Amino acid sequence: MHARLADLETLLHDRFGHQSFRPGQLQIIRSLLDGHDVLAVLPTGAGKSLVYQLAAQLLPGVTLVISPLIALMKDQVEAIEAAGLSVSVINSTRSNAEVAEDLGKLRRDQAKLLYITPERFQNQDFMDALRRLEVSLFVVDEAHCVTEWGHSFRPAYLLLANVIEQLGRPTVLALTATATPWIRDEIIERLGLKAPKLVVREIDRPNLFFEVRRVESEEHDRRMLRHLLIGDCDEYPAELSQQLCDAMHGSGIIYTATTSAAKTTAEWLREWGIAADYYHGQRKKSERARVQDAFMAGELRVIVATNAFGMGVDKPDVRFVIHRDIPASIESYYQEAGRAGRDGELARCVLIYRPGDLGRASFLAATGQLKRTDVERLRAGLLAHPYATRRELEQSTDLSKGDLTRLLDLLKNERIVVERRGRFSLRAADFDPAQVSLEGEAHRHAYERSRLAMIRSYAETDACRRRYLLNYFGDDSEDDGCTMCDNDMPRATEQRIVIRPESAPTESPFAIGERVKHNTWGAGIIQRVTDDSLTVLFDTAGYKTLSTATVYEHELLTYPNSALKHN
Ligand SMILES: [Zn+2]
Repeated sequence: MHARLADLETLLHDRFGHQSFRPGQLQIIRSLLDGHDVLAVLPTGAGKSLVYQLAAQLLPGVTLVISPLIALMKDQVEAIEAAGLSVSVINSTRSNAEVAEDLGKLRRDQAKLLYITPERFQNQDFMDALRRLEVSLFVVDEAHCVTEWGHSFRPAYLLLANVIEQLGRPTVLALTATATPWIRDEIIERLGLKAPKLVVREIDRPNLFFEVRRVESEEHDRRMLRHLLIGDCDEYPAELSQQLCDAMHGSGIIYTATTSAAKTTAEWLREWGIAADYYHGQRKKSERARVQDAFMAGELRVIVATNAFGMGVDKPDVRFVIHRDIPASIESYYQEAGRAGRDGELARCVLIYRPGDLGRASFLAATGQLKRTDVERLRAGLLAHPYATRRELEQSTDLSKGDLTRLLDLLKNERIVVERRGRFSLRAADFDPAQVSLEGEAHRHAYERSRLAMIRSYAETDACRRRYLLNYFGDDSEDDGCTMCDNDMPRATEQRIVIRPESAPTESPFAIGERVKHNTWGAGIIQRVTDDSLTVLFDTAGYKTLSTATVYEHELLTYPNSALKHN
């Protein structure tokens, strides 16, 4: 479909009230109208939803939007309705009669957009009804949920490729806020995107100041937090110190690893005279809503939360994000820290780093590992109670929700368990738990551990933190010092001497994003290149950092797809 720029701009202005497109938006809309699949990596706040809302107005038929959270849909739908557009939302809170009414509106062309959670496709009647509609565009929001490695993994996302085929293969738009080159490849493969156009917006957030504060004990950690929130600001050059200090008096988020730490930290803040409350998944729904609303409205200055808080929260004037505990990966860190400064004004991102806690963090990363005894427990549960629902199995086996989901998926793939209408049973009367391969689990764990190693290097690096983060996400542009991280702005109280190489570093033949092969660890993708080291994400061994000198000396890496050997 050929749409003239002037027409698109008129639509943008008249229906959505914006004067001009933001970077990337127009390119995506045009590709979609021309029938190309698109994978777009856009930071939150870059106007992701406008892209498909506008395309939906111009395409025939219906645009389906797959969104992981009901709350997220609610906000977006309110925004669309404010623009005078009609939209339907189908989720677990809608009754059958309401769903039927919504589908009727879509059939009669009275609504163009339909928001659904991915789990909905598992309902056969619903799928049949959808097949009777003309679906032109299939939008997968938060598309990184397809990767099993992320904490936000949702098994229902794995079935989307199949759903897309069943709906007659409409154009697909996959949207995500942060994705490493490796995750991008996985999204393309899992969703079955065909020669997609890749649109990656600048992931750099130049207004965020990144810093790490190293502490040795919990007591020291409390003092550090107090110092940051209500102490003097004189560590950096005067003007910057003042700006960072001002940021700490604005609205902020403090992330903790546990629910109890969230509560305790909020109590400390109140002792220090700061309007603060806490938020985590175990608090009552009404309490969570109250805390979130108060924070959004600015009545609550600081929210202390576990990572349950944040997806879909779009508060533009968050002035600081502090992590009291090291997050499980750079992805989580950048996503959570990135909730600061969406309005483009200076904001501060501080990671409080206790090296002693890494043991605990890796323990947490390991708690999800499936063991032989878990397989035995599920087998006993299924034998005692055939055709059990997920919830019934959760109770009878005492496995956590996440473990149970992964285990059921594993057994379904091995054709040991069968699922019909949300109920699970054994295909054969019995099976030998020893036959089930848990090798994939071991890989997943090697990967989790290596991700932790990468965030640890972030905390320990003495080079530019921004450059480190951007390299991790596949941006390999060079620059010397950003003036917006602690390593580039030495603290007044702790002057560092940085020795830079006298001659310019020689060009490395290894480039970020390229596939290489290692003698021992097999195939992998280069993630980071510095003057004297390379970090590679190996398919099975996870992240490894290698000394460039050793790589050359022993010819450790080769490009598997070419005869080229580097020397
Ligand atoms: Zn820097």
